[in-house]
Amino acid sequence: MIPQLQDFFNFEPTHAEALRRLDAVHPGEYARTRNALDGSVTGLSPYFTHGVIGMRTAVARVLQKHRLGYDDKLTFEFAWREFFHHVWTRCGEQVLTDMRPSAAGSGVYSSNLPADLREARTGVPAIDTAVRQLYATGYLHNHARMWLASYAVHLRKVHWRAGADWMYGHLLDGDVPSNHLSWQWVAGTFSSKPYLFNADNVAKYAPRGNFKDWRAKGTAIDQDYEVLERIARHEGDVGPEPGVHQGVIEPLLWAAPHADWVAEATRPLVASAVPRRREIELVTPWAMGEREGGSGAGAGGPWRLGVIHTPSHALLPWSEARWRWVLRRLGQVTDAVFVGDLGSSVPWRAGAPSWPGPGMVMAMRAPMPGYDAVLAALASLQPAPRLLPNPETMCRSFSVFYESVKRQSRSLQTQLNGELF
Ligand SMILES: Cc1cc2nc3c(=O)[nH]c(=O)nc-3n(C[C@H](O)[C@H](O)[C@H](O)COP(=O)(O)OP(=O)(O)OC[C@H]3O[C@@H](n4cnc5c(N)ncnc54)[C@H](O)[C@@H]3O)c2cc1C
Repeated sequence: MIPQLQDFFNFEPTHAEALRRLDAVHPGEYARTRNALDGSVTGLSPYFTHGVIGMRTAVARVLQKHRLGYDDKLTFEFAWREFFHHVWTRCGEQVLTDMRPSAAGSGVYSSNLPADLREARTGVPAIDTAVRQLYATGYLHNHARMWLASYAVHLRKVHWRAGADWMYGHLLDGDVPSNHLSWQWVAGTFSSKPYLFNADNVAKYAPRGNFKDWRAKGTAIDQDYEVLERIARHEGDVGPEPGVHQGVIEPLLWAAPHADWVAEATRPLVASAVPRRREIELVTPWAMGEREGGSGAGAGGPWRLGVIHTPSHALLPWSEARWRWVLRRLGQVTDAVFVGDLGSSVPWRAGAPSWPGPGMVMAMRAPMPGYDAVLAALASLQPAPRLLPNPETMCRSFSVFYESVKRQSRSLQTQLNGELF
C-alpha cells in the first residue's frame, strides 16, 4: 500500500486523530474531488459513527479556518447522515425492512450473498478489490460502497438486507441508519429508481495509482444503461465472470467480543468501584466522546460505565477489527466496562440493590436495534446531539429534508449558537 494511503487507513480510535482529520479538511478541494476514489475525502465516518467526535464540533472546527454554508458539498454530505438519522428517529427498526415497494419491480432475491462475492472472486476487478479493501481496512469510499451494493442487488440478485448486514459487520463505521438506508436507496426501496453503474463510471472515478485493480471493462457491468436496467428489472443472477479467480477468506463476524479483547483494552466492572451519590453515564459504542474534566474516575464529570448489550449484537455481529477498535476507545473514555445482557442484570447495582436513585443514571440514544429499549429501562435517555434541526414530520426524501432544514435555520453559524471553538 502506498504510504499516503496507509496513513488514510490508519483509523486510530482517538479524539486527536479525529481532530487531525478535521484540520486537514478543505471544503473547496472536497467538493471538487470527493466523487473520486482517490479524492480528498475525510475518513471521519468511524469517528462520527462511534460518537468520538460530534458533527457540531466538527463543523465548528472547520469554520475556524474556512467558510462553510448550506451550499457546500461537505455540509450537504454531513446532512445526508443527519437525514438518515432523522428517518431512524421517526421509524426506528422499520429501516431494516423495505421502506416502500421496490422501484426495481418484484424480482426474486437471495437472502444469502454468493460465496464468490464474499470471497472476492467474482472476476470483476472493481468488485473484488472493494471486498478485499473492506476486509483489510474496515473502510470503503462512498462510490465503492454504491458499486458493491448495486452489483450485489441488481446483477447478483441478493436481497439488499443480506448485503447491508454483511457490509455493516465489516465496516469500522457501520451505522444502521446510514448503511441500511443507503442499501435501500441503491435497491430502490428508499428511492424512485434503482441505482445502476457501468464500467465507464468505474473508469471515471477509479484511483489513478492502482487503476487496473478497479477495472470493470469486459465484465457483466460493461454494458449500456438500458441493458443494465433490463437485467435489474427482469433478469436473474448474472453469476461470476467465467474462469477461476483467486479469492480471500472472509473474516469472521462475532456476536460478542472475545473475553481477551475486552480484558486487553478495558477495565472490567467491579461493583465495589461504583461510586455512590455521583451521576453515572452509560456509554454505548455510539457515544464514545471525550469526557468532561479530563480522564480518570476522579475527574469532575459523571462516572462512566461502558455498556455492550450483547443480545443486540447477535442480530448484527461485528468483525474482530471493529470490536477491538470500539473496546480500545471505550477503555480510554470509561471507568469500567460491562459486556452482557443489560436486560437481565443491572450491573452497577450488583453491590448496592437500592442505588442509584432515579435520574442519576443517564445514557444517550443509540442507533442500533434493541439498545434503546433496554437503556430506557435503566437510565434517562438523552437525544443524540445533531447538527441540523430534526423536522417534526418524517421527510421521505433527502431533498424535502434539506429544504425543511434550510427553512428552519438560516446558516450553520446560527445552528451552532456561537459554539465556535
Ligand atoms: C451502500 C452504502 C453503505 C453505507 N454505509 C455507511 C455506514 O455504515 N456508515 C456511514 O457512516 N456511512 C455509510 N455510507 C455513507 C458513505 O458512504 C460514508 O459515510 C462515507 O463514504 C464515509 O467516508 P468519509 O468519512 O471519508 O466520507 P466523506 O466524504 O469525507 O464525508 C464526511 C462525512 O459525511 C457523512 N457522509 C458522507 N457521505 C454520506 C452519505 N452518502 N450518506 C451518509 N453520510 C454521508 C459521513 O458521516 C462522512 O464521515 C454508506 C453508503 C452506501 C452507498
